[in-house]
Amino acid sequence: MTPQETKPPVIWTTRLIFGLTFLVALVGVPWYGLAYGYDLVEWLTAIVMLAFCGFSITAGYHRLWSHKTYEAHPVVRAFWAFWGACALQNSILIWASGHRRHHRYVDDNEKDPYSIGRGFWFAHMGWMLRRYPSGDLDLANAGDLQRDPIVMFQHRHYAALVLISNVGLPVFLGYLNGDILGMLLLAGFLRLVISHHVTFFINSLCHMWGSQPYTDTNSARDNPVLALVTYGEGYHNFHHYFQADYRNGVRWWQFDPTKWLIFSLSWLRLASNLKRTPDFKIQEAILQMQFQRARQKLEAPKVKNPEVWQVALETEYALYMQTLNEWKAVRLEWLEKTRQAFAENLAEKKQELQDKIQLATLKSRMQEMEYGLKLQRRRLQAFLGSMTQA
Ligand SMILES: [Zn+2]
Ligand SMILES: [Zn+2]
Repeated sequence: MTPQETKPPVIWTTRLIFGLTFLVALVGVPWYGLAYGYDLVEWLTAIVMLAFCGFSITAGYHRLWSHKTYEAHPVVRAFWAFWGACALQNSILIWASGHRRHHRYVDDNEKDPYSIGRGFWFAHMGWMLRRYPSGDLDLANAGDLQRDPIVMFQHRHYAALVLISNVGLPVFLGYLNGDILGMLLLAGFLRLVISHHVTFFINSLCHMWGSQPYTDTNSARDNPVLALVTYGEGYHNFHHYFQADYRNGVRWWQFDPTKWLIFSLSWLRLASNLKRTPDFKIQEAILQMQFQRARQKLEAPKVKNPEVWQVALETEYALYMQTLNEWKAVRLEWLEKTRQAFAENLAEKKQELQDKIQLATLKSRMQEMEYGLKLQRRRLQAFLGSMTQA
């Protein structure tokens, strides 16, 4: 925006809420702590409420409603809706619609509501402090959410739910515990401010700081440190590339408690239809990025005998493309067979058995190819390393 352009009108409600809660958390909370102290019940309540709010945003607002990466039992949806209101980040309907726009137009300063192209502060909080046209409400992308009665109930009664969860509940628990103000400061104010900024980091830092193993076509980054404080959302580069996947930290060892929670819910039959990207697709994206980087490195003047490396690299690439095409063909065949097997489920048992055998063969061929790709990825990694040493 050029300086002569007039700035969009200020939104006073968000400024007041963010400003006051931040001030109370920064000054009021330590002052009360030093003067009167907090007890264990107050700390535990704040921690539990922080976790409830955090997971309601990551597993509920984000992975369930924005991206439909799984389906959830109404009890779970009601839980996410209540504690999501407690996180005070607007209703599910508005949040998810804006987030879908963020994915669709990521990094487009005119259309992405929290584009990192407009700077850290804008992506973190600034976008909520003025009526920017990029943040205009457009529910055309949220028809499915408008059909969800829990989403609509929360949207209609949002203000009441915010007050009940943020003020009513801490006051009531404080009354039971014998110190209303202490509980309100810790489980109300401090918990809310931490919960806010943790989510805001996903829009700001997760688009600035970290690696890009899957794609560099947008600014999203993978960052294990940020994953620690964002309930696993720090694997944001993977997420922007494979947004339909219920996992953000896709490897089993990557810290993604939201993924573990959704998986546990599926064990309890409270979540179903968990969507996963085929492993091959993930390997394909990583390899594609590695080839791209290897080619860029080859252009650097410090590489000796670039022609030799070039030939080796192109041989690997040809092999990669061959595996890729073969995998696509086999997968297509496998999908077709699965469809047929499903259709013929009522037909003769003999046919069904034959289909099953064929399916198993196809599956093992695909697994072999997946393994081949994994080996190639390792070779390429070593290749990249020795190229710079040469
Ligand atoms: Zn997302
Ligand atoms: Zn993002």
